[in-house]
Parts: sequence; structure tokens; C-alpha cells
Amino acid sequence: MGATGAEEAAGDDTIRCDACPVLCRIRPGRTGACDRYANIDGILTRCDPLVIAHRAAESGQPMVPFAGGTDWDGSLLRPQATFVTGIGSGTTYPDYKPAPFIVSSKHDGIDMVTVVSEGIFSYCGLKLKIDTDRYLGPETAAVRAKGEQVGHVTTAEYGSQMLSLGGVRHLTGGSKKEGTVTCDTLLALCNKEAVELAIDGGARVVVQAGQPPVVDDKLEERMRVGCGSATIGIFAPQWLGHADEVIVVDDHITGVLTEHQAGRFLDMRPGGIRVRGRKSTPGRYFQVAEPGLGWGGTDITDPLEIIARIDPKTAWPGMRLLMVSTTGEHAAWFVLDDKLKPQPAEMPAPIRNVVERIAENCEPALCTVLFMAGAGGSLRAGVTENPVRLTRSVKQSLTRVTSGGAPVYIWPGGGITYMVDVMRMPDKSFGYVPTPALVAPIEFTLPLADYAALGGYADRAVPLEEVLRGRNLAREAWRPDNPWPIEPKSRQSG
Ligand code: SF4
Repeated sequence: MGATGAEEAAGDDTIRCDACPVLCRIRPGRTGACDRYANIDGILTRCDPLVIAHRAAESGQPMVPFAGGTDWDGSLLRPQATFVTGIGSGTTYPDYKPAPFIVSSKHDGIDMVTVVSEGIFSYCGLKLKIDTDRYLGPETAAVRAKGEQVGHVTTAEYGSQMLSLGGVRHLTGGSKKEGTVTCDTLLALCNKEAVELAIDGGARVVVQAGQPPVVDDKLEERMRVGCGSATIGIFAPQWLGHADEVIVVDDHITGVLTEHQAGRFLDMRPGGIRVRGRKSTPGRYFQVAEPGLGWGGTDITDPLEIIARIDPKTAWPGMRLLMVSTTGEHAAWFVLDDKLKPQPAEMPAPIRNVVERIAENCEPALCTVLFMAGAGGSLRAGVTENPVRLTRSVKQSLTRVTSGGAPVYIWPGGGITYMVDVMRMPDKSFGYVPTPALVAPIEFTLPLADYAALGGYADRAVPLEEVLRGRNLAREAWRPDNPWPIEPKSRQSG
């Protein structure tokens, strides 16, 4: 364990932690309310190891395996391939002291510095992308965990339902229980654990970063290949000659092949089948059914229900009709009888092949968790005496911001509002404090000269080698898909 400096004597052997506003009084051998700090021999100590990420040599040397432990001193690591993350680094809040680690290193002869800290964020939440067409609930509906509202359904995206969870209103603006459950939910999802959510007027869904969603106990396997109209466009030539009409059932746009531009382009004979719903453009229909867990994200279980009428002047007996969903999960083959009524029939092999190809072209359904937080407040005071210069430096792309070494997206406009994909971060990167708020690693990397120019605590910079000689370090293999942060930004595009 390593001392953080975030401490204050509180008489006898009890010490007071000032790493967050809870100001725990911690007795010897005990931990504070968040279990992140302990009183070890009268010294306030960050319990978790400081995570050091190490990348393999470019020669193809194997990745360094994770091997945490208090007896490892980091001496085997190559400094030029080593990055000190904010995980386990400690902090104070508000940041009235310099960040716990200000690490200097060299990159291609340039003196660099990485300011390493753990941010305490009450303005934070996450955007959850769930790859499914199944109906999760109406837009703006409350999303609940353990009965408490922790967020809401937001705008759906192409092939995905989106939830917005957390945020300062749920964390601190409601009841104590709402705040605690919201904090627990965010923490679990950010640490890549599974969470069950219930949506008012909608579904129950189990979500976990990097894993497929489970909607009302059903594992979602595929993301749709496209909307119904796009599916028509992609597969129309493959249906030509094997089907007289194809209807792709979709909650967004249901496609009707012979009326659609793709069918016309192929000179297909009009089929005369009119589906329910509101016609958008030829062969493209909105609202053919209610949203649900049936065909193509609708509530339809019998596809013939969406047929409004069949024009006897246009359709003909023996007409071959395929009805299929946008994932290929549902498909049915019909032949019109003498009364122009669709009768189920055995699906011919060429049609089955195209249905299977729809399924083959669907990507695996996953849940994606993006953590979003504002680092533009007092956190900056741990980096520089003149905080607005840090904001400007980030906006001018002179300072690289990472979270546990993972690249972040910085929102334009004021502040340092960032988003990070938790799957690009080491496991268990996040913690919490009971105020409640989330604790997330954050690192600012820039040339040492620039750091001094923006009013940074350059005289407190400690060589990387010295940090690696410290105790209670844990190694983490660098994710090769993450850009290497210790490089002046002008040399990288990211
Ligand atoms: S909750 Fe944790 S960080 Fe906050 S004062 Fe207590 S021990 Fe320190």
C-alpha cells in the first residue's frame, strides 16, 4: 500500500481521510466507508495497488501478464513501454492539493509529463447502447434498478436501443436510496458486471459491457442487418426469380419488394399487396404494427396480420410470397391460392439460403457502456494553478486525456466533458464514494515544457523510474488497440 498524502491527524490513533467530503475517521487497521482508504500504522493508505500498464515490445514479445502484488517493485519493466494509470492512485476532493502522481518520462528525447489522479465525479453517468430491435420501452420511460429510477430510455439508434443512466439528478437530486442504487448500478456496469434493469411500460433487460443483452429472459444474438428497406435493397437481386414478392417486417420501415425502388430497378411485376401502416415512399412503410418482442421488433407473431389487402387486379393465384424479419430470425413462405389467400408452403432452398444469409450478415448483438463525466471543475486544480489553461490545452489538443490509459472523446464546447468505452479500460477501474459519486481514473499527458507553461506543478514531477520503485503496484497488459499516450499529440491523429 502507498501513502497518498490525503490525510489529516484526528487525535489518538484515529486518522481522518480527506480524500472526499465524507471525511471518515478511520481507526488503526480499519478502512473508511468506501474501502479505498485504510489506517495502516497511523498512515492514511490507498488500499488498492497503483495499476501500471505495460506494452509488449514491437518485436512480438508476448504481453506482460497481469500480476498484482505488494512485493513487486516494477523493476523489470521497460520505462519507455510503461504508463502509470490513475487506477489506485488516490486523490483529494476538492483538489486542493496537487495530483498524487506527476510522472515525468522521455519520449524520443522529449520530456513528457503525465498527471495521474482519480477523479470523484457526481456529474457522471453512462450511455448504454443495446444492440437489439426488440422493444425495450417508450422513449423517455424510466429505467429502474431494484425499483429505483436510475435513468431513462433515450433516442434509438440504427439497430440499437439506447439508455441514458445516472447523472447528477439521480445520484444526488433524489432520495438517498435512489442515489445509492444509481451509484451501485453505474459502478457495476462500469466495472463490466451484469445488471438487471426494468423499464416502465417495457421490458426487463440484463446488460453487461461487451456481452449480448438478455431481454425478458431471451438472449439476443443478432443485431439487424438493416431496416426493412435496407434489407430489401441488399438482397433484392438474390430473391429475383425465386420469389414474386418479399415483405421485410421491421418496426421502423417495413419493405415491400416489388413496390420498392430495388424491385422496380429489377423490373419486377407489382404484387398488389398493401401492408398496414403509413406509407413513407413507394415500398417503405412506417408503423405496420406496435413495437414489441415479435417479428422485426414489432409485436407481430403472425406476419400475415400486417397485410391490409391484396389487390385482385394485380396479384395472381400461385404468387410466391416471402415474409422475413430484419435478422432472418423469423421467416415464412406462402403461395397465394385461387382466392388470393396466402397459404403456408415449404420454403424452397434458394429462398432459405437468402434467409440464412440475412442472419449471417447480422453482427453479434452486444451491450456497449460509455462512461461520461465532467473533468472541468476542481479536478483541474490538482493539475495546475491556472485551471482554465488546462481546459484550453485539452481543447487545443496539446494535452492528451486518458482514463485508465484508454482514449477518451472530449465533447466540444465548454469544460472537459469526456466519454470513454469501459471495455478499453482495465477491469475494475472504477470505485465510488458514499456522497454518492463515482471514482474514475484520469490521466493528462503533455510535454513537460507545455505543462510548466500552463502553470502546472512541474517542480513536483517525479521520474517514472522512481514511481516504478514504489510498493503496491499492479501490472496490466497494455491494450494494443489503444493509442500510446506518451507521445506529443501532434504526432498522432487520435
Ligand atoms: S469515503 Fe473513502 S475517500 Fe471518502 S473520506 Fe471515507 S475513506 Fe476517504
